[in-house]
Amino acid sequence: MSAEQFTFDDMKMVERAKLGNKVPLELFRTIRLIGMYQGLPLGGRGTTVTIGRKIGENLPVHTLDDLLALFEELRIGIPKVIHGEHTMKIVIEDCFCSGLPVLEGKFVCDLEGAIMEGALNKIMDKRVSVREIKCNVNGDEHCEYEVRL
Ligand SMILES: [Zn+2]
Repeated sequence: MSAEQFTFDDMKMVERAKLGNKVPLELFRTIRLIGMYQGLPLGGRGTTVTIGRKIGENLPVHTLDDLLALFEELRIGIPKVIHGEHTMKIVIEDCFCSGLPVLEGKFVCDLEGAIMEGALNKIMDKRVSVREIKCNVNGDEHCEYEVRL
């Protein structure tokens, strides 16, 4: 047991006799969208980046494949990498936001992008930027991030 701070491994320690380790998607969405996106100033922009990067740095991942596998395991979504000439894009199918009402102009999966950014910074040992360029909530066919290496 670590004394001062929680780690990601600590998060897996669950002792709930009846309810186990699952919480419903609507709770995650409520925290993310009503609490953070709507509750913080400017859609939570600066705060979300800080929180996301911190989470990303603490994930037990050492390669891009590890990160993609963990995203699916945590049921954030099913990621797929598309390599361009100078950029890399990550498409997320079945994103946690899929099925929400469309609100044109809104891109709500910024936290998940910042999580990838934090993890990729650590994995690649350099500054990487991840920007959400498509979102189900904006009316796009899936959520998508552009990764600048
Ligand atoms: Zn999304």
